[in-house]
Amino acid sequence: EMFGQLTSGLEAAWNKLKGEEVLTKENIVEPMRDIRRALLEADVSLPVVRRFVQAVSDQAVGVGLIRGVRPDQQLVKIVNDELVKLMGGEVSDLEFAKSGPTVILLAGLQGVGKTTVCAKLAFYLKKLGKSCMLVAGDVYRPAAIDQLKILGGQVGVPVYSEGTEIKPSEIAKHGLEEAKKKQIDVVIMDTAGRLQIDKSMMDELKEVKKVLNPTEVLLVVDAMTGQEAAALVTTFNIEIGITGAILTKLDGDSRGGAALSVREVSGKPIKLVGRGERLEDLEPFYPERMAGRILGMGDVLSFVEKAQEVMKQEDAEELQKKIMSAKFDFNDFLKQTRAVAQMGSMSRVIGMIPGMAKVTPSQIREAEKSLKIMESMIEVMTPEEREKPELLAESATRRKRIATESGKTEQQVSQLVAQLFQMRVRMKNLMGVMENGSIPALSN
Ligand code: GDP
Repeated sequence: EMFGQLTSGLEAAWNKLKGEEVLTKENIVEPMRDIRRALLEADVSLPVVRRFVQAVSDQAVGVGLIRGVRPDQQLVKIVNDELVKLMGGEVSDLEFAKSGPTVILLAGLQGVGKTTVCAKLAFYLKKLGKSCMLVAGDVYRPAAIDQLKILGGQVGVPVYSEGTEIKPSEIAKHGLEEAKKKQIDVVIMDTAGRLQIDKSMMDELKEVKKVLNPTEVLLVVDAMTGQEAAALVTTFNIEIGITGAILTKLDGDSRGGAALSVREVSGKPIKLVGRGERLEDLEPFYPERMAGRILGMGDVLSFVEKAQEVMKQEDAEELQKKIMSAKFDFNDFLKQTRAVAQMGSMSRVIGMIPGMAKVTPSQIREAEKSLKIMESMIEVMTPEEREKPELLAESATRRKRIATESGKTEQQVSQLVAQLFQMRVRMKNLMGVMENGSIPALSN
């Protein structure tokens, strides 16, 4: 499981909030400590962790109460949104030249997967309908040129090479001319890596960049190196100027530090990620999906989003006022149950996601059925009865009339009335109103 350790580290935070009713300054202290620890263990850079934890705690304390949403679920949502922000928010697409071939210059240290990326990228672009050409610029390792030729053959794209005796910048120049002649859409230039950053590598890259005037300069970094990847992106950006990064080996047991640190530390986006050794294992970097994978809580996120949508802030304040004055009536009851039912039908879709089926389809069907029953009883109430549920609690005659008119039993009507008062009490408790909210016994 990708980032499995990070996922379980964060789970500890949610678990500490089970049983709480609201997020407070006090009860988030422990969960925030768990979050901090989980991120540090995932090798996220310390300044990034600090900023992240601060942003999450600020929001957690200020967050309003949302009907039906537990505090731990609210925290999951806040952490998710901050993770997405941390990784740049939107997906950062590859840029293409307006005219002439698009040139992508690839840089990176040895062994990070640069040669593999050349082939994967060509494969990826071919699927988008672009013609590609690879240019072999690693003049120090004949084996690298051979490997590129083999991979190019597998993808079915031409590989331009001039052996090892010519300067990379010259090869780049000739390669680009060739591509223009052949009206190739995208030229991908492979360059030589080193075991470590050194001046000759940087100088060579600068020279190649000058010749090519590339649309994209992408640094290939290995996700296994954690926050070191973020430092590399920063250094290469300062030295040669890059447009983004490609993160490889995300399929391995990388801990997440690279994916979470690169953008924030370097200011440069991760554009693509490699998730395996096969040609098709390269995909755009989607911050939202990545955050979703890290948290592994797709159902909770959609649920909270839906609840937030259903209950706009105004609505919340209105409701709060009503609860405080004990005016929560059948009209509100109907609104709220409908909102919850809406979430219910949504969770039917979510239920299809493996491992996330917490609400069973039969539970949902059950809830939808009982909502219909409630609606039919509320429909036959007079406006006065809807606004003053006490009238129904006090009068068996009224309850009997409603039962007859809605075709339900008297017991069902009594249940509905009791439910409304239970709801009032629950909400009052939630709001911390110290009032005696006992459920009135139904009189005969
Ligand atoms: P270069 O020195 O940067 O050109 O690195 P290579 O492209 O030769 O790759 C080095 C090794 O990493 C090879 O064994 C690749 O198969 C492997 N590799 C590259 N990308 C990935 C990836 O996304 N996932 C995994 N598991 N292995 C990868």
